[in-house]
Amino acid sequence: MRIDGPLHGVRGIASDTKRSTSTRQGGDMATPMSASSFIRALKDEGLTVVEVGDWRTHNRNHVGPWGPVHGVMIHHTVTKGTANTVRICRDGYSGLPGPLCHGVIAKDGKVHLVGYGRANHAGSGDDDVLRAVIAERALPADNEANTDGNRHFYGFECENLGDGKDPWPAVQVEAMEAAAAAVCRVHKWNAPSVIGHLEWQPGKIDPRGVSMAGLRRRIDERLS
Ligand SMILES: [Zn+2]
Repeated sequence: MRIDGPLHGVRGIASDTKRSTSTRQGGDMATPMSASSFIRALKDEGLTVVEVGDWRTHNRNHVGPWGPVHGVMIHHTVTKGTANTVRICRDGYSGLPGPLCHGVIAKDGKVHLVGYGRANHAGSGDDDVLRAVIAERALPADNEANTDGNRHFYGFECENLGDGKDPWPAVQVEAMEAAAAAVCRVHKWNAPSVIGHLEWQPGKIDPRGVSMAGLRRRIDERLS
């Protein structure tokens, strides 16, 4: 299916130059990939993937739309311990039902798949940011919360306390780079399609301690 809305049209123009170099898997630019394509893309990128329960059908599709998708969002969890972190991201908590993301990236770099489809990770964010992500241009300040992000973003929650002290192991940051790049490859997106929660929703600070500009540079190199 092609989505020919005005937002999508901008993206199509911006990415035409890269399209000829990305041929594998044949992903549409805005239609969410299948769960099988998602896990295959992660594995193809060299990631170690852990499938958690019924992740392929665990989602929030019954309360709202999933897609068109336009980017990847990176978070920190404010949790400690991988088992605990994965459980919370799968189940959610009082007032915020899970899944809270698609993949949990643990400190050891493994990606735990906890849900697929609409997930409670992005909340409401700034429509100007969404337009910038679609056009893959520099991000404006996120000063509005007027747009449903859970509909439009893949989400990776990364195990970290978010206190500015808890370290980010190199293997974990490498996995964050790889996971985001994997999704970009399928959709024929580039590094500017990857944003942090703090760039989307006013008041958010995650992922604290990881430079999104630096992560995008790494993703850009990986995709080129
Ligand atoms: Zn977040």
